[in-house]
Amino acid sequence: MSIEVSNVTKLYGEQRALDDVSFGIKKGNIIGFLGPNGAGKSTMMKIISCYIPQSAGSVKVCGFDVAENPMEVKSKVGYLPEHNPLYPDMYVREYLEFIAGIHKLGNRKNRVDEMIEQVGLTLERKKKIGALSKGYRQRVGLAQAMIHDPEVLILDEPTTGLDPNQIVEIRNLIRTVGKERTVMLSTHIMQEVDAICDRVIIINHGKIVADDKSKNLRSTQIKQVIRVEFDSTIAVNLLSNIKNVSDVKKLDDKTWLLGSDSDVDIRPNIFEFAVNNKLSVLTIQKEEDKLEDVFKRLTSDT
Ligand code: ADP
Ligand code: MG
Repeated sequence: MSIEVSNVTKLYGEQRALDDVSFGIKKGNIIGFLGPNGAGKSTMMKIISCYIPQSAGSVKVCGFDVAENPMEVKSKVGYLPEHNPLYPDMYVREYLEFIAGIHKLGNRKNRVDEMIEQVGLTLERKKKIGALSKGYRQRVGLAQAMIHDPEVLILDEPTTGLDPNQIVEIRNLIRTVGKERTVMLSTHIMQEVDAICDRVIIINHGKIVADDKSKNLRSTQIKQVIRVEFDSTIAVNLLSNIKNVSDVKKLDDKTWLLGSDSDVDIRPNIFEFAVNNKLSVLTIQKEEDKLEDVFKRLTSDT
């Protein structure tokens, strides 16, 4: 196992940012760590990278405990923080040599050249970081995270804030560098996970709500999902009484995702329910049970 998280809880004062979280990540996997803002993703990643301590539970990286062997853990982990703090006044090369120095690497100049080439910074290598586009800054961040050739890469929302072309480029880069590393990548965007990850861990309010291969999550016991919009608000418990409806999630005051573990089309039941309750159905639509819907069902608050 590259990462073993066991019963981790993190308290910020009274707030439980992580609540008894456990998971393991095998060597060589690319894992998507998915959840809405505030779910606890960055907190978990900072703990794994030894930036902050957990309040309870244990974390091991490549067999080393973050509390007992932080130096070993840091040598095994490359971390790209969410807001990628870089020094805008430093030159690309100068910055990477500085990071190589922190890791006490030998042959720094060569290693920096290799990294510049690997992340596609050759044309920008003589510029100041502050003069680079966001996509290129993210490449500097990735080079910084990989310069000591870590076995594990922790990337916190690596594509947030990038334009669509830059997103594609950074995803390709992550796929390439992920071939011989374990990668844990957080995102609040579903497609990201579909695009690059073998497995998805979904977190909400500090708790893991799903952990499976992306393809398995798509075919949970829910056989159909219907998106329905009524003309007025309605109580959840009424909706869950509709025949064959086994899962109810609120999208907004009047729009719901109704799931069923039955194969029989539930749309006639929904219409019958609307008539009986003097509601009008404004839209009714069969949703493909894409990962996106799984995510919505698992992380919406009703
Ligand atoms: P995510 O990365 O999934 O958006 P975070 O891990 O950043 O979530 O935050 C989880 C929760 O913990 C949020 O409610 C956030 O406000 C809170 N939190 C994060 N960092 C701190 C901190 N340093 N002090 C107090 N609360 C924090
Ligand atoms: Mg975050």
